[in-house]
Amino acid sequence: MHPYAWLEQSLATIHRADWYRSVQSIHGGSGATVVLSGQEVINFASNDYLGLAGDKRLIQAATTAIQNFGTGSTGSRLLSGHRELHSELEMAIASLKETEDALVFSSGYLANLGAITAVVGKRDVILSDKYNHSSLKNGAILSGAEVIEYPHGDAAGLKSKLQEIRQNYRRCLIITDSVFSMDGDLCPLPTLLDIAEEFNCMLLADEAHATGVLGETGAGCVEYFGCTNRQLIQIGTLSKALGSLGGYVAGSHSLIDFLRNRTPTWIYTTALSPGDTAAALEAIKIVKEESTRRSQLWRNVNYLKELMLSHVPNLKILPSESAIICFQVASAAEALKIGNFLKTSGIFAPAIRPPTVPTSRIRISLMATHEASHIEKLIEVLRNFN
Ligand SMILES: *Cc1c(COP(=O)(O)O)cnc(C)c1O
Repeated sequence: MHPYAWLEQSLATIHRADWYRSVQSIHGGSGATVVLSGQEVINFASNDYLGLAGDKRLIQAATTAIQNFGTGSTGSRLLSGHRELHSELEMAIASLKETEDALVFSSGYLANLGAITAVVGKRDVILSDKYNHSSLKNGAILSGAEVIEYPHGDAAGLKSKLQEIRQNYRRCLIITDSVFSMDGDLCPLPTLLDIAEEFNCMLLADEAHATGVLGETGAGCVEYFGCTNRQLIQIGTLSKALGSLGGYVAGSHSLIDFLRNRTPTWIYTTALSPGDTAAALEAIKIVKEESTRRSQLWRNVNYLKELMLSHVPNLKILPSESAIICFQVASAAEALKIGNFLKTSGIFAPAIRPPTVPTSRIRISLMATHEASHIEKLIEVLRNFN
């Protein structure tokens, strides 16, 4: 036996469980339709909710920034990597979110790892929704705090847990996705904020799938629920509705100032590249100015829901208040079978299986740039499978 022999065995186990994953190439540009392994498919697999990743203005902004500043930012923000462009982007995020300040990271994943590990440690406790994104879960583990999971979306369960354990710890942080990434439902944010206040806890909400999508101005779930002026830590990504790459934390002056001094995933990593920074900055401008994109997205979401209910009523649709709509299937093998059937029928909607989620499902995400005919085609294909 050699020391790497276990790799083959583990892979074999993954295959047997139908959990095996591999990449598939998209050719050409991104958009509502894409070419996947040589075949044109309607794209229901993208996080590009507003269709900005292929927008000419973002491409132009990124190209200009690369021409002016180069492809790499060449250093960390505190050493040689900081540019005026980063500050402009952070001011734009803070203005969209109506927070005092914001800080951009190289990815949303790193923003979560960084923020969570900075604000709690060994003497503290984290209360975490069971369905939270991997970056929140791993941030919690990395922080060294005691981690307690509460049942998904269960504010009453959270409260009774806090009654039981809050006095045993110094600081307490509640962490939650605002839009749950693999389900599409929302966290009960106003109630969570009340509970946080009552038990002297901080609250961190991950707006990855909400920014640009929810709220009057696209500021996210916090705006949607009318909680803009309440104290919390907001995380987000530049890589979904904003069509670029990177992540951010938005919050008070003192929070952001503290993170700039104490967050290894920001301090010891290279600053966001000029191209990504400029594209995200342009995207925020568009999110603010073109609310029609958001209303078109919501028209598409409602149209799909309506057609699903009337034409494929036996699908087990999970509760959703976002642009992510999932229907549950019996097993991982069944999910793969349906996913493949959809693909050969010209529909790209991925099978999501354990360990990403507890139960297998097909996940459909909508874009502002989908046309009615795209959605009608999806329904037609789903009817054929049923
Ligand atoms: C995608 C996602 C992230 C990670 O963001 P990246 O910028 O892609 O690293 C974090 N949290 C949630 C809820 C996400 O869906």
